[in-house]
Amino acid sequence: SPILFWHRRDLRLTDNPGLAAAALTGRPVIPVFILDEVFDSHGAAPKWRLGLGLEAFGAALAERGARLVLRRGGALQTLAALVRETGAGAVWWNRLYDPDSVERDTGVKADLKADGIDAQSFAGHILHEPWEVETKQGDYYKVFTPFWRAVKDREVPDPVTAPSDLTAPDSWPDSDALEDWQLGAAMDRGAPIVGKHVVVGERAAQGRLAAFIGQRVQDYGDARDLPSVDGTSRLSENLTLGEISIRSCWHAGLRAQADGKDGAGTFLQELVWRDFGHHLAYNTPRLTSENWREEWDAFPWNEDERKAEVIAWKRGRTGIRFVDAAMRELYVTGHMHNRSRMIVASYLCKHLMCHWKIGKAWFEEHLTDWDPASNALGWQWSAGSGPDATPYFRVFNPVTQLDRFDKKRTYVGHWIAEGQSQPSRDALDYFEAIPRRWGLSPDDDYPEPVVGADEGRKRALEAYENRSF
Ligand code: FAD
Repeated sequence: SPILFWHRRDLRLTDNPGLAAAALTGRPVIPVFILDEVFDSHGAAPKWRLGLGLEAFGAALAERGARLVLRRGGALQTLAALVRETGAGAVWWNRLYDPDSVERDTGVKADLKADGIDAQSFAGHILHEPWEVETKQGDYYKVFTPFWRAVKDREVPDPVTAPSDLTAPDSWPDSDALEDWQLGAAMDRGAPIVGKHVVVGERAAQGRLAAFIGQRVQDYGDARDLPSVDGTSRLSENLTLGEISIRSCWHAGLRAQADGKDGAGTFLQELVWRDFGHHLAYNTPRLTSENWREEWDAFPWNEDERKAEVIAWKRGRTGIRFVDAAMRELYVTGHMHNRSRMIVASYLCKHLMCHWKIGKAWFEEHLTDWDPASNALGWQWSAGSGPDATPYFRVFNPVTQLDRFDKKRTYVGHWIAEGQSQPSRDALDYFEAIPRRWGLSPDDDYPEPVVGADEGRKRALEAYENRSF
């Protein structure tokens, strides 16, 4: 009988452990994607990017004579209906580790099994299963460096090749039309602009990895900190949808290291930061929704999104150039450089004393590489409320950070149009992408700081000194 293969964040054929195992059985395989409440609840940019990913993956399957069956609805009900329609005896998938997915998948597995269906899950979305990395006391890891030490020399399975053949079922079940899902609906204004900046699909992601390893990894150690330089892999948007496997990235990094490429070790470490986020999200699900350190519940965070300072932050009009450039980069490209993410997060949580949840939600709405675990970890790290976090009293100065990481002002010059006679295309695209009701124009004066670098730092440190915990 056929195997239903339930795709989620694994839109690839190469190194897809579950799909490879299904193909090896020689039984018919029916690839399925379900737009369930978990995927449907995501922000505008990740949903739009998901649509592009599904289109590319559907085409890749079609090249092998297979199809991607699309259905919308509750995961369990939809899978049960497909089992009935196709006579499938098995439902297999690759595991995810964020709380919403874990809760859904645990329920689905139990219910399918109770109905006599062979429900199986496989590893492959991260390097090491969260329950397989333990401290000497048998606990999970809360701090990155010991986590890194625990896994850096561990064996990571070699990537498995794409199945050469997927046996088709006698007849294909009905599929929704991707267009009818309107995954880009909320992205109407920005989509053509953000569309210039995405790299979609498995083949393109493999090309990206090859280009990075071939050219940029050597200098990655330093270049990764400079937002004006194309110094990183940009693989996050592909990794979050599984258009490329993390194991392939790991092995490519190891080979580069063996070839003596200087930056390869740092690249491997960054890949493990991704694992660390998933390790924490799995072991302490509150990472994605609550202050990981509960005492931070008592901190006087601003949670009011209507405050002028918050609006200015979202719109890239704080008057702090590093912050504004970064927020515009996000709006136009669906991506933001890691250094910039740290700067805007620090400014929001410290200078503006706003709750990290406001920033986390804004990123969830606008990042094409949005990942539930990495986003939550990044925000809790920046705010000081996470398990391994930068202390609250360490406040990034967004002005002196410019001197360190954008000395020639290339990055801020690229993104901020106001006051320039010949702004870049990207800087102007920002004004095309934003809603007209914001009433912004490149001819406006550049604003004075809503909260200055020194003033904000002082305010944040006072609040920290006076905290009740
Ligand atoms: P590279 O430098 O080429 O790194 C290679 C890969 O390693 C990345 O693709 C990513 O998968 C992983 N990685 C690198 N840095 C980190 C990190 N600090 N944490 C976790 N994984 C990392 N990353 C996301 O993928 N999705 C998010 O939603 C996200 N939100 C973030 C929010 C904040 C506030 C912060 C500070 C960081 C966030 N990050 C997030 C992590 C990081 O900024 C991005 O992964 C990175 O900028 C992606 O660019 P790249 O692919 O060129 O990275």
